[in-house]
Amino acid sequence: MTLEKKMAEIDSALRLITKLAASNCTQYDESWRKVNDIIRIAEEKLAIDMQDHPAPAEFFKNPYHHTPAREVYRLPNEARAFVGALIECKELPPRSQTRIQRLYKKVNSTRRIKGYYKWYGKIREDLIWALSSKNWPTLSESESEIPIGNMTLINQTDQDPAASIKTVQIASNLYKSSGIAGLSKSLYGNVFLVSSIANKKTTMAWYNPNTDQIYVIARKRWSNQQEHTVLHELGHRFWRKFAGNDRKEEWISHHRTISGKVELGVGDLVPTTKYTITKIEYKTTHLIDEKGEAAYLPTKKLEQLQRELKYPTLYSAQNYEEHFCEALGLFLQNELKPPHLEAFERVWT
Ligand SMILES: [Zn+2]
Repeated sequence: MTLEKKMAEIDSALRLITKLAASNCTQYDESWRKVNDIIRIAEEKLAIDMQDHPAPAEFFKNPYHHTPAREVYRLPNEARAFVGALIECKELPPRSQTRIQRLYKKVNSTRRIKGYYKWYGKIREDLIWALSSKNWPTLSESESEIPIGNMTLINQTDQDPAASIKTVQIASNLYKSSGIAGLSKSLYGNVFLVSSIANKKTTMAWYNPNTDQIYVIARKRWSNQQEHTVLHELGHRFWRKFAGNDRKEEWISHHRTISGKVELGVGDLVPTTKYTITKIEYKTTHLIDEKGEAAYLPTKKLEQLQRELKYPTLYSAQNYEEHFCEALGLFLQNELKPPHLEAFERVWT
C-alpha cells in the first residue's frame, strides 16, 4: 500500500468519525450561543430604556419611542434556527411541549415584523426560558431508533416509546404468522413514531401511499384499537405493493356482492339474536322473542346492525381496499366474525 493510499484511508476514516460526532446538537450549540449573545445585549439595553417605564406591557406597546439594540434585528432568523435545533437535539421536559410548540409557531410566523421592540416583547420570556434548554438531556441516537425485525421505529417524540414498540412488535409478529401469502413482505423500512400534536387527536396511525411511509402516534398505553390501526395501515402497503392481482379481483367482486344485499324487514330474525322483527317505525323497531314476548330496539340501532352485518366494520363500506384492511386487521386479531371470516379466508388463505 502506498503512503498516499494509506493517508487517503485515514482521511476518509477521520471524516466519517467527524460526521458521526456531528449530531443535531452542533447546530443547537451554535445557535444557542448566538441567541444567548443577542438576548444578553438586548436585555441590557432594555434595562436602561425601561428605567423610566415601570410597566413593561405599556413599554412594549409603543414601538416607535425606542430603538432596540441593533442585534435584535438579527434575532428572528437566529431564533428560528435555535428553536428548530432545540427540538431536534433536546429531550423536552414533561409539560414543556405546549410552550415549545407556541414558541415554534411564533418564530416561524410569516407575518412581517412591524416593530421589533413589540415583537421582542412578545417573545423574550419564552426565548429566555428556552435558553435554559442547555441543561436538558440530549436525545440519544440509540433511544430514537429502535429495530423491530426488518423495520426501524424512529421515535420523533419526547415520549417513552415502550407502548409503541410493543404495538409494532405485535403487529409484526401477527403479520409473520398470518398464513397469508406474501403478507410479511410488508414489514420493512422506517416506522415513524410521532407526537399526537402533529395530527388529529383521533388518528392512531396512517400510511402515506405516495412515500410508502408508516406513521404511528405515540401513546402511553398499548391498546387493542391502536394495534388494529397499525395492522390496517400496513395492510394498505400489502394491498398496493404485494397482493396478487387474482386475489384482489376476487376480493373486489366479494365486496361488490355484499354491497348490494337486501335489508332486514318485518318477519326477519335479527341476526345473532332470538328476536323477530314485527314492525319498523321511524324511531322504534318492534320485536318478539321465541315465547312471543315483545321487545324493542331503536331503529337507529337496527340500521347500524345492518351496516355492520354487510361489512365487518362501518368503515369497510368506504371501498374494497378499506374493506380489505379492516378485515385483515380483525382477522389477525382473531376478531373477524362469520360470515366475514369465511369470505376472508376463502380469498386470502
Ligand atoms: Zn385505511
